[in-house]
Amino acid sequence: MEELFFCEIRDLYDAEKQLIEALPEMAKAASSDELRCFFEKHLRQTSRQVKRLERVFKVLGEKKATGRKCAAIAGLIEEANEIVSADGDRAVRDAGLIAVARKVEHYEVSGYGSAWAHAEILGYGKAARLLDQTLIEEEEAKETLTGMAPRASNRFDLPKTRSAVG
Ligand code: ZN
Ligand code: FE
Ligand code: FE
Ligand code: FE
Repeated sequence: MEELFFCEIRDLYDAEKQLIEALPEMAKAASSDELRCFFEKHLRQTSRQVKRLERVFKVLGEKKATGRKCAAIAGLIEEANEIVSADGDRAVRDAGLIAVARKVEHYEVSGYGSAWAHAEILGYGKAARLLDQTLIEEEEAKETLTGMAPRASNRFDLPKTRSAVG
């Protein structure tokens, strides 16, 4: 279990560092002020999450934080890049950015949720509390994005032609 737990936090550490590179591009690509501000704010929060993970490694007696390539976030960032470089209606692109950002936050919520639970099981109370702080932030980010997402009931906000949406 200890080995699994360390794999998990190394994965999260790498994921957060990849997101520090990707979030500025997503902010730049966002058209609405609300979405751009969300990405900028989440970038600052992500920097704090990286530092928090470094504290997790420290309280567990690791000399330095080490990452382990998170292939899932790399894949989601690839998806994000497809949206960032797509042309077409700006509102539709925002919808695509929100959709991929929701996938990222879902991934992080799951990852931190498991890591937190495993830290508790292993009796790593201090690490668990730190992981829980980030878990709460990721859940909030996920909810914020859900609130921003276009809904079926607001379908007239977006161009409705098949080519624009598909
Ligand atoms: Zn994260
Ligand atoms: Fe994050
Ligand atoms: Fe991963
Ligand atoms: Fe996040």
